[in-house]
Amino acid sequence: MDHRTRTPVVGMVGGGQLARMTHQAAIALGQSLKVLAAAPDDPAALVAPDVQIGPHTDLAALRAFAQGCDAVTFDHEHVPGEHLRELVAAGAAVHPGPDALLHAQDKLVMRRKLAEMGLPVPPFAEIRSVSDALEFGAEHGWPCVLKTARGGYDGRGVWTLNTPESAQRTVTELLEAGAVLLAEQRVPLRRELAALVARSPFGQGAAWPLVETVQSEGICVQVLAPAPDASEQLREQAQNMALQIAEELGVVGVLAVELFETADGLVINELAMRPHNSGHWSMEGALTSQFEQHVRAVLDYPLGSTGLTAPAVVMANVLGAPTEPKMGVDERMHHLFARFPHAKVHLYGKAERPGRKIGHVNVLGEDMSAVRREADLAAHFLSHGEWADGHLVH
Ligand code: ADP
Repeated sequence: MDHRTRTPVVGMVGGGQLARMTHQAAIALGQSLKVLAAAPDDPAALVAPDVQIGPHTDLAALRAFAQGCDAVTFDHEHVPGEHLRELVAAGAAVHPGPDALLHAQDKLVMRRKLAEMGLPVPPFAEIRSVSDALEFGAEHGWPCVLKTARGGYDGRGVWTLNTPESAQRTVTELLEAGAVLLAEQRVPLRRELAALVARSPFGQGAAWPLVETVQSEGICVQVLAPAPDASEQLREQAQNMALQIAEELGVVGVLAVELFETADGLVINELAMRPHNSGHWSMEGALTSQFEQHVRAVLDYPLGSTGLTAPAVVMANVLGAPTEPKMGVDERMHHLFARFPHAKVHLYGKAERPGRKIGHVNVLGEDMSAVRREADLAAHFLSHGEWADGHLVH
């Protein structure tokens, strides 16, 4: 409890943009997020007053941080499970708890659990040797996908194995480096979707509308809410699967279930147990944003309505441009606001580096393709300082 405001204190481990936007939501609830950041210029450390600088892998730092927090939660999944168990044993309310979080930390554990629950996952196998990979490829066909069980994000930690020769090379190299590996069938996907839900310790669940996530080179570049051309049945199936996973794993907070849509239905790719890029649209696009919902859930407040505030909502990520834009960010915003007064910009206070997520733009409207075009133009301009009329990807 914060003795000045008489509101609870949520502590978030990790000071990235997710913590920054969670702090923004906490403020509206009368709170101020406490942050354990790696560096003073992390996105959340720049804006939250109560910041501890320290490594998330250090138990002493985590213990000190958890003191005085009514709930401890995360902006990434990299805190070692054994440290979290220590915090729980010392009486901290850690949400999501270590047993749930393990399924977002380890892809092999996650795949095994979801398969055991009878949910659709691609054929997969642990790869302990080159011959495991060769067998997997022979059975499920080349190319197949190789992943590290832990530590990957934004496609780092994912390789396509095109041939037995490439499997030999890549698997040898990674095993020598000590990686735990799994292989998966390369899913013939039509598109990628995400089902975002939240769950409270009381057991209340809430699902946002199913969204489409548009990817480019392993990075999510756009999110379309609601997912266009998704049948009622598909939407319900995705939402129910996500709620079922949240319940079965005992997730507390936001759970994002990344999905592949194939000709034969949905296949689950990944789980994230925190606010997620596929939910940034909800900041203006839903009655309750994922950041507010995460705070409500970890404090066991009743959850908020998840309905859309407009028929079509698009989030477009602003990625650092390959070469430095001629205009500074201040000037880019000036031009952007002049052209698109209704575009909502969220910048994370990060240095611009090629391909790095430095912000996002949300656009709301009536017609999905018009909204999508505007969000695309706006995000491209914020990245590059140049308008891309006439040569957008879609
Ligand atoms: P990360 O944890 O790095 O985000 P993911 O497992 O989500 O890695 O994979 C990143 C991207 O790679 C996915 O969004 C998808 O486009 C592609 N991908 C991953 N697994 C498969 C698969 N089994 N079949 C086809 N594409 C895949």
